[in-house]
Amino acid sequence: MVNDLKQFIYSIVLLEYLIEGVFIIHELAVTEELLKLVLKYAEENKAQRVISINLQVGELRDFTEEWMQRYFDYLSRGTIAEGGKIVLKTIPVTMECVECQANFGADLKQAEISCPGCGSASCRVIAGNEFIIESIGVI
Ligand SMILES: [Zn+2]
Repeated sequence: MVNDLKQFIYSIVLLEYLIEGVFIIHELAVTEELLKLVLKYAEENKAQRVISINLQVGELRDFTEEWMQRYFDYLSRGTIAEGGKIVLKTIPVTMECVECQANFGADLKQAEISCPGCGSASCRVIAGNEFIIESIGVI
C-alpha cells in the first residue's frame, strides 16, 4: 500500500514536472532524508514528539514549503514526527562577479545574468543552493 501511495505521489510529481518544467521529484527524496535525520535527532534526545522543523533552503533548490509539508505528512505517518510542521525560510540567490568580485542578487527569471557593476557575464553562485536544518522542535 505504501508503494502504491508512493507511485501515486510520483505520478503527481511527474505531472507537475510536465506542467511546470521543474523537476520536483527531488523534493520527495530530500524530504525522506530529512525525516531520517529528524527521527534520529528525536531519538537521541528522547523526544516524545516532533513539533517543528525549521529549514533554510536556497532559492535555487526550488523547494516549496507546501510540497515539503505534503511529503513530510505522508512519509512521517505513524512516527513521532507525524504532525510536525515544516517551516521553510528561503535564502535568495547571491552571485559574485568573477571580473570585479561584486556581489549581487540575481533574478532567476532573467535569461542572462550579468554583473550590474561591470556588465561581465562571468558570474558564479555564492549563495542560494543551501539546505540547512536550522532547528528541530521536539517535546
Ligand atoms: Zn563585475
